[in-house]
Amino acid sequence: YAINPKSNVVSCKVPANLPKNFPRFTDFLFEKTERFSDRDVLVCSQSGRKLSHSQLRHEARAFGSRLVEREILKNKNDSLSIVCPNSIEFAISFFGTIAAGGVISPTNPVYVKDELAHNFHLAEPKGVVTTSAQLDAVLEAIDLLGSKNTIGSVIVTDIATERDLKHKFRIPQGVKILPWGEFNGQTSSNAMVKGADSFSQDDLVVLPFSSGTTGLAKGVHLSHKSLAANILQMSCPGMSNIQEHEILVGLLPFFHIYGMNAILGFGIYHGGTNILLEKFEPSALLNLLLKYEPTLFHLVPPILNFLARSPDVKEEHLASLKTITCGAAPAPVTVINELIKKFPGMTASFQEGYGMTEASPVTHWIPYGCKNFGSCGGPLPDTRSAIRDVSTDKFLGSNKNGEIVVQGPQVMICYHKNPSATADTLTEDRWLKTGDIGYYDDKGFFYVVDRVKELIKVKGLQVAPAELEDILHKHPSLSDAAVVGIPHDKLGEAPRAFVVPKMGSDGKPVDVDPVNVQKMVEEHVSEHKYLAGGVEVVESLPKSLTGKILRRQLKADYLKKLEGKD
Ligand code: AMP
Repeated sequence: YAINPKSNVVSCKVPANLPKNFPRFTDFLFEKTERFSDRDVLVCSQSGRKLSHSQLRHEARAFGSRLVEREILKNKNDSLSIVCPNSIEFAISFFGTIAAGGVISPTNPVYVKDELAHNFHLAEPKGVVTTSAQLDAVLEAIDLLGSKNTIGSVIVTDIATERDLKHKFRIPQGVKILPWGEFNGQTSSNAMVKGADSFSQDDLVVLPFSSGTTGLAKGVHLSHKSLAANILQMSCPGMSNIQEHEILVGLLPFFHIYGMNAILGFGIYHGGTNILLEKFEPSALLNLLLKYEPTLFHLVPPILNFLARSPDVKEEHLASLKTITCGAAPAPVTVINELIKKFPGMTASFQEGYGMTEASPVTHWIPYGCKNFGSCGGPLPDTRSAIRDVSTDKFLGSNKNGEIVVQGPQVMICYHKNPSATADTLTEDRWLKTGDIGYYDDKGFFYVVDRVKELIKVKGLQVAPAELEDILHKHPSLSDAAVVGIPHDKLGEAPRAFVVPKMGSDGKPVDVDPVNVQKMVEEHVSEHKYLAGGVEVVESLPKSLTGKILRRQLKADYLKKLEGKD
């Protein structure tokens, strides 16, 4: 890495040689995959169903054409929401929509109605692709939105006819339920949305969600260029060592940018085969590893923990792997070392990556074969990174802590329809403020040590304290509440609530049952957002002069108290 002594900016010495103009994201991928025609691109590890590279191209284009012909998507920027686990249909609808000039807003399929309604409200999709397992929640979310609903069609990937459903589901007025069969198969037509010909590489193509540094989830405007550039940056010599025809573990969810671009997109571009697993289930994963002999395994720290610590994981499970890549949350060095000690003959190289939804996602990566564990690597090719002093805004030299900032073609254009959040996160010269605290060493390797943003990461997934606090504020016995992330052995971090009871008519605080508080939250959110770190009843919350909750102090006080107990 090169460290500029004047500017204190760190960059990679390898150039990415990116093209000046990127085509539509699907053209970028599909032009490259023409020659991988019959090779499998997706294999479902449970059912054994397969799709080849050429089938994906044809079926995606057919799906996209039908979306336009049926007027589900009409104009440029019309979006389709995908509420599906990793599946062949996820990939077909994802690439099909983009090929037809539309926009994808991917959503966690385990979300409950309130969470889905929030995302639908932000992204205003015209249609949704889902499965019958998620359909109830999708329809309830549409009901919740009432007059604000923009969704006219719900495509269900696993039903034969609409009639099959009518008895079981209450369908909101004005919404059509469409079976997958009506979108499936090949077609020679190539319909595109109106305005698709006025293409720009900076156009919105995917709108995932992130809470950023503060508040509730926001739509992140990722462009054709940002997604494609990140794939090329990861593919540079010395970075991933990816070759053609790799076999990837498709376990991390595709709705999250890590699964979507660093596994699905990256794998397809290199003619790879993604072996799909809907969720982390230890024996299913171990079977997959033996049966399909994957070469690349992208994972998150809790799965790394499982590989290192579960007695069920044996040398043969990892024998085919060339690379294990860990990202989305810090990978503890002790666990990496345990893995290496447990499997001394392991040929896989361990690579930690660092990134975020706002950067498509990867900005830093340990180069292939480098054993600098504990670091998340240096900036990818064509990425600049620095450490910003949070009080003076100045860029600091090596070995000094500050906020990690990054600049590069993979950085988002903006938060969707949210100029104030954009201005808080992107500086005028387009430095992305990550909200993470870290430093770089004399060689330009970065280390993440803390987080200044509110975000909590549970199993690598985002949890926004503001969302849980909004729910707690509705509790009839509470006058105030704050949520922070605390360290958790299995989950990485877990949300913990500090709640202040209301005063009763006798002038004393009313009784608050922590279990009842936990249950209330569980009615409104999906499981990874449950208050697994516990609920503590407190007299008051530490606040700044302007009334902002001092979360870092709350967390530090709690951890100190915990240490005292030991
Ligand atoms: P997301 O947008 O969900 O990908 O979350 C991005 C955030 O995850 C970053 O801002 C970090 O706080 C955290 N993160 C991602 N990768 C790492 C890593 N290798 N080490 C520490 N934190 C990470």
